[in-house]
Amino acid sequence: MGLFERARHSSTRWSQRPMSFTTLAPSWQELLAASVTTGAELARYFPVDAVLVDQICRRYPMRINPYYLTLIEKPGDPIWRQAIPDPRELTDTVCPEDPLAEERLSPVANLVHKYPDRALLLVASQCAMYCRFCTRKRKVGTAALAVGRKRLEPALAYLARTPTIHDVLLSGGDPLLLPDGELLWLLTELRRIPHLEIIRLGSRVPCTLPQRITPRLTGVLKKFHPLYINTHFNHPLEITPEAALACARLADAGIPLGNQTVLLKGINDDAATIKELMRGLLRIRVKPYYLFQGDLSRGTNHFRTPVAQGLAIMRELIGHTSGLATPTFALDAPDGAGKIPLTPDYQQELGPEGLRFISYDGRPCQYPNP
Ligand SMILES: *Cc1c(COP(=O)(O)O)cnc(C)c1O
Ligand code: SF4
Repeated sequence: MGLFERARHSSTRWSQRPMSFTTLAPSWQELLAASVTTGAELARYFPVDAVLVDQICRRYPMRINPYYLTLIEKPGDPIWRQAIPDPRELTDTVCPEDPLAEERLSPVANLVHKYPDRALLLVASQCAMYCRFCTRKRKVGTAALAVGRKRLEPALAYLARTPTIHDVLLSGGDPLLLPDGELLWLLTELRRIPHLEIIRLGSRVPCTLPQRITPRLTGVLKKFHPLYINTHFNHPLEITPEAALACARLADAGIPLGNQTVLLKGINDDAATIKELMRGLLRIRVKPYYLFQGDLSRGTNHFRTPVAQGLAIMRELIGHTSGLATPTFALDAPDGAGKIPLTPDYQQELGPEGLRFISYDGRPCQYPNP
């Protein structure tokens, strides 16, 4: 922590509810507008060095909306670490700016085409909370990520003239921070392209600002099926009644929900936390999709965990808990080589007579070939 004297007055200050709203249930726009974005604002709730916070935020913006802020129980906890700027963001000398080579793999503005049959479209620059470990930290929430209808036209034209693409993944920033009308426009444009079979949205909003998932929004989204949403929960503390309601509304609109979790040092890098998170997700009708090894993005090195630790966590999931609760552990390979599954090895020997392997609970087994 260093600069943030934790423990001392942690929860006392915080328990005096910070924001005051005119209505009982503020809209998502009101919540977003009341976000903490400066050192001085943050210092109203926690004992932090406001000048230092501002120094970090000039490079990597901070935004903590009142909903996500209320999930913090005390400084240094798993929610705090995801949201509060850390001086180590500025001193990372290990990670490159763009480890996934997204800029090189971008044939037109705001589109990344890495795999043969799918493409990533950056449609929004903002998020409901700027995660300190963000893989696109170099540009999310800054002027470096420009969006808007005009800006997206070349990307839409590229999708229309590339019939091998069947799956478009909307990302950013957070696509669900776009106003309903902009989403309606964008989804309408995408659905005019016949070879785009599925549309996927990657959004952290069900976790970080669940109030955004309104009946009006799901009314828009459900017109564009097959539409899938992958959300992003990292810790069981994020599975709240509000998040459950948001996911219920999406699932009730017929949208299959997946989840991508990032392994984060000191936040969720142990089997008990991951297992609880995955089970919690299934309870709110979200199917764990990926568990990611941390990317090598500049400013996030202090969050990275050893690969062996992720593999050990997978060993404690596979067979020990529901297959539905078991995501694919994956590494997004440096330099744009794509996502590689990392699976613990159960196989011992594959010969002409068959396979020798170890069961999930450690027993030697054999399977004879025909
Ligand atoms: C992750 C990613 C995808 C989607 O990959 P899946 O394994 O299909 O989920 C597509 N394009 C890019 C550039 C990506 O990083
Ligand atoms: S919501 Fe996603 S894109 Fe936005 S800051 Fe967090 S990790 Fe990055």
